[in-house]
Amino acid sequence: MPDLSETTSYRIVVLGAGYAGLTCFLELQDHLPRGHDLVLVSRDRYHWFTTELHMYAAGEDADAVRIPLKRLVASPGRFIQDYVTAIHPADQQVELKVHGRLGYDLLVFALGSEPEYFGIPGVGEHALTVGTPQAAREVRERVADLAARGDRTASAIPPGGVHPAHVMVVGGGLTGVELVAELADEYPGRLRLTLLEAMPEIMAGFPDELVGLSRQVLEQKGIRIITGNPIIAVDEATVHLEKGDQIAYDLLIWAGGVRGHSVLTPSGLALGTRGRGKVDAYLRSVSDDRVYIIGDSAAFTDPATGREIPPTGQAAVQMGRAAAANILRRVRGQEEQPFRFRMRGQFASLGRYQGVGMMGDESLAGLPAMFIKHLVEGYHAWEMGSGVMPLLQKLVAAPVKYLRGRQLTARTRTAVRLREQRP
Ligand SMILES: Cc1cc2nc3c(=O)[nH]c(=O)nc-3n(C[C@H](O)[C@H](O)[C@H](O)COP(=O)(O)OP(=O)(O)OC[C@H]3O[C@@H](n4cnc5c(N)ncnc54)[C@H](O)[C@@H]3O)c2cc1C
Repeated sequence: MPDLSETTSYRIVVLGAGYAGLTCFLELQDHLPRGHDLVLVSRDRYHWFTTELHMYAAGEDADAVRIPLKRLVASPGRFIQDYVTAIHPADQQVELKVHGRLGYDLLVFALGSEPEYFGIPGVGEHALTVGTPQAAREVRERVADLAARGDRTASAIPPGGVHPAHVMVVGGGLTGVELVAELADEYPGRLRLTLLEAMPEIMAGFPDELVGLSRQVLEQKGIRIITGNPIIAVDEATVHLEKGDQIAYDLLIWAGGVRGHSVLTPSGLALGTRGRGKVDAYLRSVSDDRVYIIGDSAAFTDPATGREIPPTGQAAVQMGRAAAANILRRVRGQEEQPFRFRMRGQFASLGRYQGVGMMGDESLAGLPAMFIKHLVEGYHAWEMGSGVMPLLQKLVAAPVKYLRGRQLTARTRTAVRLREQRP
């Protein structure tokens, strides 16, 4: 390991201003001794709350799910808005689209993930995704357009002949479930929605009772759920499933998996599963200890389970903090400490008015689940420097939305009862 305590001034470059990168950068900005150069590079001038991009895709205001980086960056930190096109660990340089090459003493790679299509023909060409603000914006525009088209069709064609556009979401994990539920609430009755999951059940990792409840909630919203029937090919209008079914779609959205950022592949750094950078116990690349890899792009094997930890927001934030702490120790000539991942629970929104989650062995649904999910989101915004208002708004919003959801359900039940009582 190079002894940085001997160096008087050196440069730490953090790539990516997402959950992992920004957490790491802000910790360093707060605690790094003066005289060093701390640089944040990101293609976007905002920190986006990636875990809330499904809300943006379904029509939420952009400013509710992002913070301008200029409010957060202060001396000794500085920000370069640019695309990272390559990293050259042997030369200790990164390549930026506009600013050219930038040297570093220590690099933090936190560029997040890209979609993993598992080599299924046609998916990459025909499906949209929601993993980046740009991708979510495209979904937002296409969905709004399709819903509006359905409305125009509805006024032109008599009842019974109306066919709202068909939006298929592939992937029954957190991203797919949260997205399809949000679309159902934003466009009730104006889209046909299908959730497709290759595995026998949606929401892997959640206890059976929460999976059952989530299914019920999604189906009540009119979402068709297909499980245990993987996609084998996609063309511009149809998905082809393993069991022989062919389903026509108007819009296909892929939430079926992610892999490490493509900039890692040609870098020469060792890779773990799905193109993620393999890291040691201290979150440093196993092939170059001057490069820390954190967040969705890191392949970190949890010594407690012997398995790589899955890419999540909470893992990204914990890695960001741990990498910053290790860099600070390294700068001071102290021993670095191994990273320990702590699973703090898992929560999923099921549209605006409902949610489920688990903390330890405790399963939560309804208001408690929504409250904690809102608390986690609001706390993240507060921690990242948004001030206390977004946190307070989130905390007030949870019970308000929950009660609104109950009202809507009661109204729907009354309407159905009245319809059934009609002669
Ligand atoms: C809709 C949705 C819902 C989710 N829900 C949950 C949830 O409920 N709970 C949970 O734990 N996780 C959830 N996740 C996953 C979670 O968002 C990710 O695990 C987390 O964002 C990973 O953090 P990261 O810092 O690695 O990457 P990101 O937060 O994606 O940040 C990557 C950063 O790198 C920048 N960048 C990327 N490429 C370049 C480039 N070439 N040049 C310059 N900058 C670049 C980006 O602009 C961004 O600033 C969800 C994800 C999505 C999409």
